Amino acid sequence: MKLDVAIIGAGPAGLTAGIFVRRAGLKVACFEKLAIGGQAALTYSIDNFPGFEKISGFELMDKISTQAKNLGVQIEYCSVEKVEQLNNKFILTTSMGKVEANKIIIACGCKVRRLGLDNEQQLTGHGISYCASCDGNFFKGKTVAVVGGGNSAIADVEYLHNIAKKIYLINRRDVFRAGEFQLNKIKAYKNVEIITPAVITKFCEKGGELAGIEINHAGATKTIKLDGVFLAIGSYPELDFINFNLNLDQAGYIIVDQNMQTSVKNVYACGDVVSKNFRQVINACAEGATAGNSCVYN
Ligand code: NAP
Repeated sequence: MKLDVAIIGAGPAGLTAGIFVRRAGLKVACFEKLAIGGQAALTYSIDNFPGFEKISGFELMDKISTQAKNLGVQIEYCSVEKVEQLNNKFILTTSMGKVEANKIIIACGCKVRRLGLDNEQQLTGHGISYCASCDGNFFKGKTVAVVGGGNSAIADVEYLHNIAKKIYLINRRDVFRAGEFQLNKIKAYKNVEIITPAVITKFCEKGGELAGIEINHAGATKTIKLDGVFLAIGSYPELDFINFNLNLDQAGYIIVDQNMQTSVKNVYACGDVVSKNFRQVINACAEGATAGNSCVYN
């Protein structure tokens, strides 16, 4: 396959970039290894995207991807395993074969962070989850914990509070990264108990299922019986598949200029994978628009 522009990722940033590239008549495809819409599609409710007072992440992403597809943006469901530079072109090795592109846009988002405790992997899907809007319904009338202090953790509590009987929100610091407004909203829910500063030290298991957690709460060890734990402790960029050097910040996010241009000519980046302080669907889309436009006119 030969393309003018190859976009790695079909979340809000990648899809919007596709829309802008395609509207200029160029041949463009988004490569997506998971589901269309990325992390945003898993968001229960988005109420800060202009034009939609309240919309589910899935519905918003469905609208954006339909618009992209109708314009002629190709969506390829495959993983990009390697990107190399060869004679001013980019060669992508994908699980479907090789792709040649004149320019690339990296919009692959981030990977969810895990706590790294002993039996975390075994209990994933058996009481441990990283997605409240995907798995929350399995915990109707049950007791769960949400771990984290960012907007994702608060959004998970918001989603779960009408489903679960009781929710513990566990944050490792007394201070939350989440917005004040969102935090105050969940503080008012009667079935939510906030425990800080606290960290999980052990996942307790019974018959292959999560049975509870052991926490260190301000220096004291406590055990809490639980049916489920939702980990919302952030994410990190994974860029091992890029076979050339890009300027990254200390945390490994891609440094871009105002045109979403990276340190390498003809390589652009947008969305959660770029170095910034504010990660929302709205600015992912705006950055996608800029990256797409830069590909066309630079
Ligand atoms: P985040 O803002 O990076 O928050 C991660 C949280 O997990 C922090 O409280 C952090 O604690 C904690 N944490 C990290 N590693 C930990 C560990 N090993 N053990 C225990 N706790 C740990 O991540 P996020 O909540 O996923 O949000 C990511 C971005 O998306 C943010 O920019 C956020 O605003 C945005 N977002 C926005 C919305 C919305 O507006 N509706 C919804 C979801 C996400 P420390 O604070 O101590 O580091």
